[in-house]
Amino acid sequence: MVEKFITPADLPTDYERELLIILMEECDEISQRAAKILRFGALEVQPGQIFDNVERMCQEIGDFECVRNLLHQQNLIDKKRIPYGYERKRGQLAKYMQTSKPTGGCDGA
Ligand SMILES: [Mg+2]
Repeated sequence: MVEKFITPADLPTDYERELLIILMEECDEISQRAAKILRFGALEVQPGQIFDNVERMCQEIGDFECVRNLLHQQNLIDKKRIPYGYERKRGQLAKYMQTSKPTGGCDGA
């Protein structure tokens, strides 16, 4: 008989669960906007829309930042740890990207 694993951690509250679902939705929306830019171009305006793909990407990133702040308020994100991930990613990109920008890095420097 297999011994069942029971998490020792507290599970998210209903509110926290909903925030995490919204976070997943926003990540999907950012992904979708990136795909649209790849397929149709940055300045394409989809039929029935008034904003181009870049503006809509910015809106989705704003949505993400809003949810990120709400998760921080629930202690599901520690903002002090984010710079570590940022720097780690910069290092990974410098090492593994197969293409390069003529000038500057991901922070625009
Ligand atoms: Mg959104």
